Amino acid sequence: MTSAQAPKTIIIGSGPAGYTAAIYLSRANVPNLVLEGTQPGGQLTITSEVENFPGFPEGIQGPELMAKFRAQAARFGSEIVGRSAAGVDLSRRPFTVRTDEASYTAPALILATGSTARWLGLPEEPAFQGKGLSACATCDGFFFRGQEIAVVGGGDTALEEALFLTNFAAKVTLIHRRGELRGSRIMQERAFKHPKIEFAWHAKVTGLLPDAGGLLAGLRLADTRDGAVRDLAVTGCFVAIGHSPNTGFLAGQLELDANGYVVTRPDRTATSVAGVFACGDVQDHVWRQAVTAAGSGCMAALECERWLAEQ
Ligand code: NDP
Repeated sequence: MTSAQAPKTIIIGSGPAGYTAAIYLSRANVPNLVLEGTQPGGQLTITSEVENFPGFPEGIQGPELMAKFRAQAARFGSEIVGRSAAGVDLSRRPFTVRTDEASYTAPALILATGSTARWLGLPEEPAFQGKGLSACATCDGFFFRGQEIAVVGGGDTALEEALFLTNFAAKVTLIHRRGELRGSRIMQERAFKHPKIEFAWHAKVTGLLPDAGGLLAGLRLADTRDGAVRDLAVTGCFVAIGHSPNTGFLAGQLELDANGYVVTRPDRTATSVAGVFACGDVQDHVWRQAVTAAGSGCMAALECERWLAEQ
């Protein structure tokens, strides 16, 4: 698309869903604009090796995979802008998308803003970010070489992060609130077998403990069965307890579910507003895979293109 051409569709978000939608729209000759957002490339840019995206039998680094998605969208003419949607007006068409710098309009929108890692919700958490507390092992693992650290959570993300962190740390304690993990069997087995990984079962983090310089020195843990409290000495803690959808900028504009995810029609990407489609993790709290996000991005583009043709 040349910048003189008004977009027929604005895609908000630049993860696997957004870029796949862009590739399909561009190849269908639908001029489209991608607003990349605050984390260009989305969550895969802060993951370690992606081993389960088909077509890469040796695995691929998340940022490299997303650079390929972006290059493919650009190759077919998608216009990609490094801005974030701050608000939308879906009450009339063409729809308006506001960023801090400019407003854009288009007759159709594809929402692909994904989700963001959740924090524990402790009041002292912000003060410890960058001082031992992190939600991204790939970004920060390197800083914990030879140290004893913890990962909070029992899903695949927690297991993946714990395994990745064994490359640096002397010991990784996986803290889980139940006595059974949620993650997949293969990841569980890898973690159980690993000599550097220990488990703190039925444990909830109730406090972050500083050293004299304000750096993380330990975690206060409460037993979820009887409330018994103990402290665990660690200099790093990685939170991996799931995600929240990035839909704050959509409040009141279309139907969201109780957890804030965009509601799409069964087997469709159409939302409660005609001409607005949603794909990827912003509407999917079940599968949340790069490949399923890409698949739903393809669906959104096809559905959007058909809808535009009918108008
Ligand atoms: P999940 O929702 O699967 O797991 C979140 C974990 O955090 C659960 O064990 C949950 O406990 C725990 N938890 C949630 N809230 C809190 C809290 N407030 N305090 C303490 N613990 C909490 O999220 P993931 O990010 O792990 O995974 C999301 C999806 O992505 C899954 O489908 C997963 O399979 C997939 N994935 C796949 C990977 C791969 O294939 N390589 C890698 C990473 C993710 P509880 O179990 O008690 O609910």
